Amino acid sequence: MSNNNQYILALDVGGRPYEWLLWQEAVTLYARDEIAWEAGDTKIIVRGGISHKTGVQSEIHLNSIVAVRGANIANKKRVPSLTNRALFVRDGHVCMYCGEQFQTSLLTRDHIMPKAQGGADKWDNVITACKHCNNKKGNRTPHAAGMPLLAIPYVPNRAEYLLLKNRNILVDQMLFLKHHVPSCRRVM
Ligand SMILES: [Zn+2]
Repeated sequence: MSNNNQYILALDVGGRPYEWLLWQEAVTLYARDEIAWEAGDTKIIVRGGISHKTGVQSEIHLNSIVAVRGANIANKKRVPSLTNRALFVRDGHVCMYCGEQFQTSLLTRDHIMPKAQGGADKWDNVITACKHCNNKKGNRTPHAAGMPLLAIPYVPNRAEYLLLKNRNILVDQMLFLKHHVPSCRRVM
């Protein structure tokens, strides 16, 4: 793999998902001997400058998953930002009322307890709904509208947050992160 836009998955030394690193950040950590161990199956090759002497382009090989000494999950933001993109990914682009899958342009963020009734704009009060179902539900609770939810919304954990954040995830990174997602989660 040769891709300067590829992110490297950083773990803490206990193997817990920590953050995505730019290759430049990873190079710095390798140079400072702050990489404790590697866990990925993929080598990310970063092409450097061409030597004036030899005419050969330099290459740096980075592992796709690395454990970083001193990485501390406690210092990291726990709850990911609630964006429509992240919400639709969490719910697999499936409307939580009719169960159909839609493209992004046909989806909306539905507040289970409507905002008009004091419902919060938070992960555990929002679900993906198609425009049709959202209009039908209106400013009512699912119960009042007679539209039961197909799944209970949840706040994504750190691994889910990392899955939601990066659109360019390698297979080994995906498998590693999915291993840290509770098995009860329907979609991710
Ligand atoms: Zn629907």
